[in-house]
Amino acid sequence: MKKFPHGPVRTCLGCGQKKVKQELIRLVYDGQNEVIVDTSRRLPGRGVYWCGADDCAARLKKNIKRLAWALRLQGTHFNCKSW
Ligand SMILES: [Zn+2]
Repeated sequence: MKKFPHGPVRTCLGCGQKKVKQELIRLVYDGQNEVIVDTSRRLPGRGVYWCGADDCAARLKKNIKRLAWALRLQGTHFNCKSW
């Protein structure tokens, strides 16, 4: 019998890899021009998931419009300095 992962599965926005939510890093907009890592996993607002790989981070930052779209931040200027 196939073993299913425990808990909800999310997709990394950078590579499309599906993982259990707990294994992914949640990124949220802090409301002050910065997209930050939601270490508490409890920050309000819309979040995106990232697998933690450096090349994925580079991809997300390179395609900032897609990240902005995923976070519903179109037209907002923001930085991603902390990750
Ligand atoms: Zn990834």
